[in-house]
Formats: sequence, structure tokens, C-alpha cells
Amino acid sequence: MKYADLHVHTLASDGTYAPAQLIRESIKRGLSAIAIVDHDTVGIIPQAIAEAKGEALEIIAGVELTAQYENQEVHILGYFVDYLNSTLLEKLKLVQQNRIERVGKIISNLKELGVKLNPETVFNISGKGTVGRMHIARALVKEGHVNSVSEAFRKYIGDKSPAYVLGFRLFPKEAIKIINDAGGVAVLAHPYILHNDTLISEFIKDGLQGIEVYYPEHSQSMINFYLDLAKQLNLLVTGGSDFHGSVKPEIKLGMIKIPFELVEKLRQAKK
Ligand code: AMP
Ligand code: ZN
Ligand code: FE
Ligand code: FE
Repeated sequence: MKYADLHVHTLASDGTYAPAQLIRESIKRGLSAIAIVDHDTVGIIPQAIAEAKGEALEIIAGVELTAQYENQEVHILGYFVDYLNSTLLEKLKLVQQNRIERVGKIISNLKELGVKLNPETVFNISGKGTVGRMHIARALVKEGHVNSVSEAFRKYIGDKSPAYVLGFRLFPKEAIKIINDAGGVAVLAHPYILHNDTLISEFIKDGLQGIEVYYPEHSQSMINFYLDLAKQLNLLVTGGSDFHGSVKPEIKLGMIKIPFELVEKLRQAKK
């Protein structure tokens, strides 16, 4: 039986693995394919595909777009996207620029709280990838302001913490369109965080084609519920671990893996 993990982050966003490490680890864990779905970037996909050439592992080009519906964060996964599509790259550049500006705002909030964080420490950690709160958390650890990433979120930058700044958010409809226009299949990530399942029907009208049924935080009863929903609404079924490397050590690559026939269905749905 062949398996795939369709939710993997790299150091191009807030994960810690480079493509070569991911490829090695995926093969070791018996995976036949992984989808790289970094937050708001496809920058590392060409390198990952090149490095997997000749290996027994398929790299599926993907992205995880950050969107918001009213006060709920919604993540939209895009699979089999054309990662060289110029409109896609332009939109992602805008989002990334916005993320850079947001770091400045969070740093000035931290300063008001008496925490002097050097922006360079943050940007050295994020490197060429999309910058976000995970890099700020790691910089806070590095400079000794907190002892752990989780303490950084709890004390300073978590959604309800004092230095938090809301990032730029696409509407789910826009995120779906960006993915579809780049030839990708749009899938709702970890639907359990969306506390309103009727929204899914609305997203389908916008072009959504699948839901991430298999996910570490989904209990068996949630899985059954979403499988049922997928059947009713004629949605594709995906799944993955949301692997981030050493910053989320409890999540292991391939801990959620799906049979390859689901990957083939996803591939066939590509326009
Ligand atoms: P951003 O897109 O910059 O808002 O950052 C979102 C990232 O922060 C995601 O990868 C989340 O997993 C991570 N994150 C959000 N809240 C927490 C938390 N309380 N503890 C650890 N990571 C978190
Ligand atoms: Zn992430
Ligand atoms: Fe997500
Ligand atoms: Fe993710």
C-alpha cells in the first residue's frame, strides 16, 4: 500500500526542515508522496522537486493560505498549484510584505511591554521564507526573554496575548480563487477549527473541492463526521500531519498518512 502525508511545512515558512531532510525522513517513514504546503509561499517548491528527482518520493506542489471569515481564521490548502504562476507569486509577495510589516508592529508592542527584541534576530531565523509569529517566538527564546516557544505565545504573541497583532487576511473566497486561478485544487484545512460547518457549503460555491478529514487534532468521531459530510457534499478527502519539524516535536512526519488513491483523486480534480 502506498501512502502520502499531504500537510508538511518547511523552513520556507514556520517549519524547521529543509527539503533534503524532509525527503530523507519521508522515505525512511515509508511515504510515497508528501505535499509541501508552506504558509503563504511556494518559494521552496522548485528546489524540493529538483532534490527529489530520482528518489522514491513524489513532491506535490502546494500552499496553505491564511484567510479569515468574520472572526474565524480559515486556512485554505492548495494542491497541484502551478508554483510559477505569476499572479499567484504576485499575490503571495503582497501577503509576505504584509507579514514583514506586522513583525515591526509586534516588536513595537513588545517594546511597550518592556521586551526589547531585535528585528534582525527574527529575520535571521525566518531567512528567505515567510515570516510569522513562530519566528518571533523563536527569537524571543534565542534572546532569552522566554524559555520556550509556547511561553512566548502564552505570554506575548498568542491570539489573546498583549503583543498580538492581527495579520493581513484574505477572504476565503479570494484564497480559493487564487489557488484555482493557479490551476490548483482548493481544500479546507483542519475543518475542526471552523466552528460553523454550514460555511463549507458557501466555500464550495466559491470553488472549494475538498476537506482535510484526517488531521492529528481530529478524533475518530470528527473523522467520521467529515467523511460523511464529504460524501454528502461530493468533496475530495485529504489528510496530513501538519508537520513543522523541531518547533512542534509532538507532530511526527507521516503520523497522519492517507492511501494513495486519495492522492490520485485529488490529482484528477486538477483543472
Ligand atoms: P502567524 O501566521 O504568523 O499568525 O502564525 C501562526 C503560527 O503560529 C502557526 O504555525 C501556529 O501553529 C502558531 N501558533 C499560534 N498560536 C500558537 C500557540 N499558542 N502555541 C504555539 N504555536 C502557535
Ligand atoms: Zn505553520
Ligand atoms: Fe493551518
Ligand atoms: Fe499547516
